[in-house]
Amino acid sequence: MHKQAWLRQHLKCLACGGALAAAGEWRCGSCGATYAVINNAVSFIDAELAAQTKVDAPNKVSDHAYNTTARAIITAVEAQGGMALDCGAGLRDFRSEHLVQVEISAYDNIDVLAVNQALPFADASFDAVISLDVLEHVSDPFASARELARVLKPGGVLFIDVPFLQVEHGYPHHYFNMTRMGMRQLFEGMLECQAHVVPRSGHPGHVVWSMLQGFRVGLPRPERAEFESLTVGELMALGPNGIRDMYENAFNEEAAWRMASTTQALFTKPWDQAANRLGLAVNELAAFRPRKAKARPAALAQRVRASPALAPLKRARLILSKMFAGARRSFRAE
Ligand SMILES: [Zn+2]
Repeated sequence: MHKQAWLRQHLKCLACGGALAAAGEWRCGSCGATYAVINNAVSFIDAELAAQTKVDAPNKVSDHAYNTTARAIITAVEAQGGMALDCGAGLRDFRSEHLVQVEISAYDNIDVLAVNQALPFADASFDAVISLDVLEHVSDPFASARELARVLKPGGVLFIDVPFLQVEHGYPHHYFNMTRMGMRQLFEGMLECQAHVVPRSGHPGHVVWSMLQGFRVGLPRPERAEFESLTVGELMALGPNGIRDMYENAFNEEAAWRMASTTQALFTKPWDQAANRLGLAVNELAAFRPRKAKARPAALAQRVRASPALAPLKRARLILSKMFAGARRSFRAE
């Protein structure tokens, strides 16, 4: 049991950093703090930490197989007799004596229950750390990045994947997407970036599809059917304001949150009075006023369909559809 022996050496008390001993539950030799075992995983999440980091175990299971690169990294760690950390593993059907899988839910493959912002491992514990589609789900990605860097040995490898243009999704919370600069900035001064690419799984094709999908599911049936009938060219001809004006009234509010281009907010600093310092009624400001349903510019779609710029496209589609119909007829005749 390489991994259990390893965990006894490398797990540390979250309260005081002391060494832990296992006997049913895990107990800190220095301060006496105890850590329960849940479904064979040592748990470093108590109610207070869960509230602080806004963690609650998701009811939707995240289950992905390791990609080829993650497997290659784990294989290299195994070959060296080292230890890898998968921080935010989800449910995986792969385990290894040289891989510690951390999650906030006690799936069968999980060794340690912990939040990314407070990892219960000694400094420089791991030869490799894997963090795949996790940091968008943590309330403090900067603290989480510091922890990933802290538990990595000098010369150790971090393999990380964080979405940029993805619509809001749960499991259970989704906080921060990252640009390429954001991803690099997270580890600035701690780790050196050796390679940074757009993977096949992150191709813009996925963005186009998920945005169109997110938009169509935000519409009730009649508008959805109409939206689906528009060509890309017609949508482009509508322009951003045109698309908004066409579907503003029909669009589902929750769907709008999931893929909003931007969101607006007004905060106040707490003080001893109920109103804000300016005496502003927030819901009377234009930005926060309940919006009146605007009449849908019904002519917009028709205008787009009649657009001369699209005429050649329409002709081409007509010719193609006639050709296919002809081909089908001659195929049937044979
Ligand atoms: Zn302790």
